[in-house]
Amino acid sequence: MSEAKRVSDIGEFGLIGELEAVLRESAGPDVRVGIGDDAALVSWGESWDLVLTCDAMIEGEHFSSDSTPPRILGQKALVTNLSDIAAMGADPKYALLTLGCPPDARVEDVLEIGRGIAETASQFGLAVVGGDTVRNKPGTIVAITVVGLVKRGTALLRSGASVGDAVLTTGTLGDSAIGLRLLTPGDLRARVDPESVDYLKGRHLVPTPRVKEGKLLSSTGIATAAIDVSDGLLADLGHICERSGVGAVVDWDAVPISDQARLAAQSARIDLFAAVLGGGEDYELLFCCSSQDADGAKQLFCDPSLAPVTQIGEIVEGSGVRVEGLPEGVEERLARGFDHFAQP
Ligand code: ADP
Ligand code: MG
Repeated sequence: MSEAKRVSDIGEFGLIGELEAVLRESAGPDVRVGIGDDAALVSWGESWDLVLTCDAMIEGEHFSSDSTPPRILGQKALVTNLSDIAAMGADPKYALLTLGCPPDARVEDVLEIGRGIAETASQFGLAVVGGDTVRNKPGTIVAITVVGLVKRGTALLRSGASVGDAVLTTGTLGDSAIGLRLLTPGDLRARVDPESVDYLKGRHLVPTPRVKEGKLLSSTGIATAAIDVSDGLLADLGHICERSGVGAVVDWDAVPISDQARLAAQSARIDLFAAVLGGGEDYELLFCCSSQDADGAKQLFCDPSLAPVTQIGEIVEGSGVRVEGLPEGVEERLARGFDHFAQP
């Protein structure tokens, strides 16, 4: 008898693909984009589309209660969802909160999670209007669903990139992965200057969802494709390529990296290539636009209230992502982004 196929055999994206085949028939004509983009897009009246997304944070898997205070956990759980709304260029409107915790969890800690969520919600103008509460003995779970709105036909999708387009990113990449390594006190952290430690930890614990930037891209119509960097630059640009039927070339020397990340990687001997190309959770917006519009896009983002954008590569024929300018052997090592079910 053959062994039953396990989730680890097919990985997270394999599993989502197989689930999609099972769930696809439930979608009617009002579903404009179903499974496979950063969020689902469904028709809403004559001139709007609803945008729907959910993301969960599980204790022991996505965070440790030792290094993540409950208020920060609440903020980050909402940020990860808002980032997917941003990647669609939508305006976040309503959220539902599913909270799981062990029976001996402290009420004050649970309320702190709620306060963190409420703070981020008011910052981005959305209302938390319900949810579900469940007992979960092994630890805390914060799962949030967000609903947003975007003008019909203006949503940013992963699927519109064409050969010759420029590839741009907001902000800097790699901070979050390095911040994660520095969360726990110890030898590694002691080698990095305290200011950089604080900055990088902050980038991991409370990233800024690029909601304003996403809305600017959708309202100007300048972006041909977009995604948020949650799984890592290579993996997420790979998703754009797959959905758009193209390949991409990234110029390593052009990728924006903060001084703090460079210094910390050097002093604590952290693999900067892995952090920048493979590390996820930066929640920056990665987008494409026609090469003629690349300078215009950079100009658009000059306003100091917005994250700056940098061109890091271009879309080419073929498939997959190639990085130019890397030392020998680095690219193969990093070819796969973070996969929740992959065997180490
Ligand atoms: P992101 O990193 O942008 O949050 P994911 O990789 O988590 O995106 O998900 C990719 C796509 O697969 C999304 O469209 C998401 O809604 C869909 N998806 C993920 N898990 C499931 C599931 N269990 N059932 C249905 N759709 C899913
Ligand atoms: Mg996403």
